[in-house]
Amino acid sequence: MIDLKTFEVWFITGSQNLYGEETLRQVAEHSKHIAEGLNSAGQMPVRVVYKPVVKSTEEIYQTLQEANVAPNCIGIITWMHTFSPAKMWIRGLNILQKPMLHLHTQYNRDIPWSSIDMDFMNLNQSAHGDREFGFMVSRLRKNRKVVVGHWQDTEVLGQIDAWARAAAGWYDWQGAKFARFGDNMRFVAVTDGDKVEAETKFGFSVNTYGIGDLVAVIDSITEAEVTALTDLYEATYTMDASLAKGGEGYSSVYEAAKIELGLKKFLEDGGFKGFSDTFEDLHGMVQLPGIASQRLMEAGYGFAGEGDWKTAALVRAFKVMGSGLAGGNAFMEDYTYHFDPSNELVLGSHMLEIDSSLANGKPSLEVHPLGIGGKADPARLVFNVAGGNALNASLIDMGNRFRLLINEVEAVEPQNDLPNLPVARVLWKPLPDMKTGCAAWIYAGGAHHTAYSQNLTAEHLQDFADMAGIEFLRIGKDTNIAQFRNELRWNEVAYR
Ligand code: MN
Repeated sequence: MIDLKTFEVWFITGSQNLYGEETLRQVAEHSKHIAEGLNSAGQMPVRVVYKPVVKSTEEIYQTLQEANVAPNCIGIITWMHTFSPAKMWIRGLNILQKPMLHLHTQYNRDIPWSSIDMDFMNLNQSAHGDREFGFMVSRLRKNRKVVVGHWQDTEVLGQIDAWARAAAGWYDWQGAKFARFGDNMRFVAVTDGDKVEAETKFGFSVNTYGIGDLVAVIDSITEAEVTALTDLYEATYTMDASLAKGGEGYSSVYEAAKIELGLKKFLEDGGFKGFSDTFEDLHGMVQLPGIASQRLMEAGYGFAGEGDWKTAALVRAFKVMGSGLAGGNAFMEDYTYHFDPSNELVLGSHMLEIDSSLANGKPSLEVHPLGIGGKADPARLVFNVAGGNALNASLIDMGNRFRLLINEVEAVEPQNDLPNLPVARVLWKPLPDMKTGCAAWIYAGGAHHTAYSQNLTAEHLQDFADMAGIEFLRIGKDTNIAQFRNELRWNEVAYR
């Protein structure tokens, strides 16, 4: 889908000219070795590129300026092998616009007890050199991620991996375009928000397109194109014979395929990375896009229903961040509850549009009445979703700031057949428990719509929120309501 290896992070080592040629030669050699080591580590999702050691205000400024404009550079990793007096970093850090990870490492893992001498001490100074650098970054109030440990340590590599994935999602948002067909679902609050502020803060734009413009593209799709797609449906999904070509229900599948192709063409022609629609504005469309939205999400587009552009953008970012990992990222809605005290569960779903990248097994393509929207019966994919660790995330406009809220959940395998429920569905237990998880979510103003992830963690999203410079709240196994409510109160002051 999205190949993260097209992205690079620059490995930048700081030093100074004071040390002399021989020491600086060794600094460069060690830095190259570390950059190569990071680059070839199995879990590194992006390319790590070594940059010549920076030793002066001018070299630092020039390198960071180049990082700002380098097309595939999504962030920088900094490390001070030796002492790099940090006033030299002020100009460069002040103009840096890309995410930064400060790797507080050391070339050698161990102290060479029997051979350590003053030459060794002169070269291996990151324990204090990185503190001087850290002071300046804090003094300038710049967000960054600090990772501590030997550069071959798997925990260190895992933290860099998470940051690099977050940086890829952030990079993908810059200049991204999202199409909104129609406006927000009438009177709904949480899905609305300030699109001007979002573009300023996040770098993506959201603009509205008349449904008639989309219908014109759908109508331009040829019969041969539609038939090729319905053939693919038949080859890919479980389908009742009546929905196959020649069957009495085939026309519904045909219309759904035509909508998918039209939507796809509209998105491709306009260079969009995602979209939203609303069932209150479907003039000229035969059905609400069901299978179309599901399959376009699976192909990498962001989507959320009812005009929810914030969740659509978040779903897209999740797809980029999780690219190449096992598991899926999807649009989700907390739908209904199971309040059995011995087994409390949330059933997550939507009217139609649950991303088929979550499907556990072969989805079933079905056509059923929708009950709202007053359109023809839409085709949709029905499937179950596997258990395991997952999370829900919501991007909320609090008026004076954006808030990224997550709830870690434990998804569970379906325990019962749901023969009369014709939509894809997920079951999960919110952490730390149903009552605390749901109460904390509601106190924080979290939406009913979320981006649901099977492969991202709180660490990815904390890093992502830091890159955006927005508030981050986590509801997880250690959450306690009294403490969480205090965090909300204190954040009101912190973000005033
Ligand atoms: Mn909804």
